[in-house]
Amino acid sequence: MSSFTPHATTPPLLPLFADLRDRTVLVVGGGAVARRKVATLLEAGARISIATAAPEPTLRAWIGQERLRWLQGAFDPAWLDDTWLVVAASSDQALNRVVAAAAHARRIFVNAVDDATASSFHVPARVRRGHLQIAVSTGGAAPVLAQRVRERLEAELDESLDALTGLLARERARIRWRFLQAGRRRRFFQDLLDGEVPQLLREGDHAAAQAAFNAALADNATAPRRGNVALVGAGPGDPGLLTLKALRALQEADVILHDRLVGPGILDLARRDAERIDVGKRVGEDHDATQARIHVLLLKHACAGQNVVRLQGGDPLVFGRGGEELEFLRAHAIPHSVVPGITAALGCAAAAGVALTDRRCAHGVTLMAARGNASIDHRASAAGDHTLAVYMGAGEFASFSQTLIRHGRPADTPCVVIENGTLPNQRVLATTLAALPELARERAIRAPALAIIGEVAAHAAQAGRCRNPATGDTGAVTRAA
Ligand code: SAH
Repeated sequence: MSSFTPHATTPPLLPLFADLRDRTVLVVGGGAVARRKVATLLEAGARISIATAAPEPTLRAWIGQERLRWLQGAFDPAWLDDTWLVVAASSDQALNRVVAAAAHARRIFVNAVDDATASSFHVPARVRRGHLQIAVSTGGAAPVLAQRVRERLEAELDESLDALTGLLARERARIRWRFLQAGRRRRFFQDLLDGEVPQLLREGDHAAAQAAFNAALADNATAPRRGNVALVGAGPGDPGLLTLKALRALQEADVILHDRLVGPGILDLARRDAERIDVGKRVGEDHDATQARIHVLLLKHACAGQNVVRLQGGDPLVFGRGGEELEFLRAHAIPHSVVPGITAALGCAAAAGVALTDRRCAHGVTLMAARGNASIDHRASAAGDHTLAVYMGAGEFASFSQTLIRHGRPADTPCVVIENGTLPNQRVLATTLAALPELARERAIRAPALAIIGEVAAHAAQAGRCRNPATGDTGAVTRAA
């Protein structure tokens, strides 16, 4: 007999919503538990056989009304012949197990009440608003927790969702006919759900809701939809650092043009059928050509009426080419918006426990890119009471450190390097400005990495606890030299 005992490595149960109309379900047992199961199954339209010697009064009444078929006598595996599903709900656990074993032998799904080991399906806690249903399960680990979640959802989801589901079900054919394209249809639904129809239903005004629906359908069918582009910041890596707006934009996107730095944890949050295009720039590639290709894609998809998300690591307007993209969108009159993100400097400072403008030793912070440092005003960045957050390629540590020292920043200025900041494989390494190149070499720092340079870096504290599988480094601040 198969068993399901949840622990860390058990795969999760798969939720299914079963169509039981006119399908035979065998319920074994005749007490209150069996009655509750039968009531739910009747509601689902199942044809029910009940096996019990002594049905309780309601069950007996249903048998009398021929709503249930009554099987009497000792359990006979032949009762399973025309059965799709079995619920063993008697008070006799041994009997439930016999029934479950017989069902398993015939590959019929069976639930033995309060006996996860003997069951091949669990019955979830359920929130129902008409045809809208939410099933909650902890895989048997903590039914009380599932009940809690259910109660919370019960409180949160108002009753009008039933009417809303009903209206959408009634109008389904008409909506399909108006919007043959799946993308258009989805957008119509989204606009509808954001519009006044749900509100009118909440107020109980069904006639007004229907009128508003009709108007929306007429409107949307004629107006050709314009596409739009959102420049969205994905933050430094940890999906938890996305903004709610970014999450919403991802879920509404038809197409996502993303950087290489944006990890799968974040892309997974987008709609499954959204098209994902990696437009990341790679070392040794012609970056201008890649950028030109991005512009062409933005134009093409927006003109096709799609919701386009241009997703960049960190903030879209910090050290990317977001400025050029904005200009391009303006020049082509493409409707657009910007959703800011947490830039790497802020994510990495938090990860390293560094206050970038700790008033005791810093009067300001400069976000700077190490690349092209010939044109940087190094007198300003060499000032002792100023923090530098330096966005760096892996090969740039040596020349940057030397240039700063040449312009007067003391060689022993504290410095902390954060690699893969906010990600599970984050490394935080503390050093001095002079020893930075050596650290980068010895500890094989790879992109993406960021250096925080200045007195504030002396206060770097342990932030992460993760271990880099490649190097064995922990997220703890490691002091080199
Ligand atoms: N728009 C981005 C920066 C793009 S430039 C932002 O606002 O963060 C890419 C550089 O950002 C990398 O070379 C690296 O210096 C830095 N960076 C991005 N993500 C990082 C991370 N998780 N950890 C450390 N540095 C990161």
